[in-house]
Amino acid sequence: MLGEMESGVNRRPFRVAVIGSGPSGFYAVEALLEAFGAQISCDILERLPTPFGLVRGGVAPDHQSIKKVASHYERIAHNPQVRFFGNVKVGGDMTPHELDRFYDAVIYAIGNERDRHLAVPGMDLPGCYSATGFVGWYNGHPDFKKHEFDLDHETAAVIGIGNVAIDVARVLARHPDEWGHTDIAGYVVPKFRSIKKLKRIYVLGRRGAAQAACTLKELKELAQLKHADLIVEPDEIAADRKALEDGSLKDSKARQIVRYLGEIADRGPSGKPRQVILRFCLSPVEFLEGANRRLAGVRLEKNEVRPDGNGVMRPYGTGQFIHLDAGVVFKAVGYRGNEIPGVPFDKRTGTIPNIAGRILKRPGSQEVIPGEYVVGWAKRGPTGLIGTNKLDAIETVKTVVADYPNPPLQGPHRAKVPDESAIVETLEQRNVRYVTFKDWKRIDAQEVRVGQKQGKVREKFTSVKDTMKFLGHNS
Ligand code: NAP
Repeated sequence: MLGEMESGVNRRPFRVAVIGSGPSGFYAVEALLEAFGAQISCDILERLPTPFGLVRGGVAPDHQSIKKVASHYERIAHNPQVRFFGNVKVGGDMTPHELDRFYDAVIYAIGNERDRHLAVPGMDLPGCYSATGFVGWYNGHPDFKKHEFDLDHETAAVIGIGNVAIDVARVLARHPDEWGHTDIAGYVVPKFRSIKKLKRIYVLGRRGAAQAACTLKELKELAQLKHADLIVEPDEIAADRKALEDGSLKDSKARQIVRYLGEIADRGPSGKPRQVILRFCLSPVEFLEGANRRLAGVRLEKNEVRPDGNGVMRPYGTGQFIHLDAGVVFKAVGYRGNEIPGVPFDKRTGTIPNIAGRILKRPGSQEVIPGEYVVGWAKRGPTGLIGTNKLDAIETVKTVVADYPNPPLQGPHRAKVPDESAIVETLEQRNVRYVTFKDWKRIDAQEVRVGQKQGKVREKFTSVKDTMKFLGHNS
């Protein structure tokens, strides 16, 4: 708490805007409330009418228990010192620079909304999709609801072996009946029912099993699917198993994964209708065009994995190639950030340049922008699980506390922060139909109501227009 700082503080509360309402945004608000107590007032500005970021639009519909974390965020949002402004786009309805007029400090919690580029010839062929788009589509995210996927092929391949790749493989491998009770977007299940040919889903790691980016929990779930066998070729993990046995594989996560995948390799398939096949040490070098001008396969180079000069295990092409007949490919090679004009951006890392959460004027500079901070994936890149964002937010809020109430926060441009109604008046003058948390609770109740009629957790609004119409805003 701020005990020792309380003297000398302005009588009005310290006003902070948090841009983005995903996990990192909510954990930032929670940490601010904890640190500043009654002295803080937080506004959350979210470009969608609905809160919770990846918890709503990214976490897979068969992971309902993970989504329960939203009730914790709700409790934070119900704090009277917190206001939610949904459907307000910073970098659209309001520039980052304008926020200075309303707030003492701004914390960007905008995540990483794009997928990392995969520079492989043919990657734009019809049939080659981004996992980000697929995940957004099956979750009913308004940005992706119109995406189309041609999924009815015998073989699909997922590039990458992180948790997103595992999500995509698992979602494809499940029987359509398994989605009935979830909050999967209403248009997805009929599409899944129309898939007749799909038999094999390859998940392709460019390094070995010991370097797999996914977690053991997700692999175990993949191995327990009703409708699909998980398959690992014994030869492909033999070297990792040897390293496990002779003790040269030290990393405990890697040891657990290799041990588990060894058991899967020994077990072999049981004859379920679909197969999820993990393959290692393979990099895509070309997506191949078929006669119908769409994807017909992938050319993959076999890799050897060995340490680089810093001891990091890296994949090196061997000059040996294999061909995989895949009619559909998902690129699940990680996310990267979207640039907001007026907010510094490091094009190389896809993040907002910062030191411990203080935003820097430009990548590589040591000069901070007074009163501007960043949390979550926009700060550190797309790593970690939802809970990782809590510690990350606490780190950034510690820097806010350290800066408060001294310079640099009280720069001349922040000297006359008007009262809390000013942002509301500005949004209204601009005809921006913002969504309050009370409005969100109406949306929430309606989604649950409509969902329950069909035996589902909820049926989401999948377009901004429909959501706003439900709230009575027709324009
Ligand atoms: P990720 O964990 O970074 O995995 C990316 C995968 O793509 C890695 O296997 C990586 O291989 C591979 N890759 C990268 N560039 C490549 C290239 N040029 N060619 C071939 N392969 C390439 O990213 P993610 O799966 O998008 O997940 C992002 C974060 O969200 C992670 O922290 C993840 O745990 C989290 N998440 C969690 C859950 C869950 O808890 N269920 C679900 C989804 C996402 P290398 O390792 O060799 O770089």
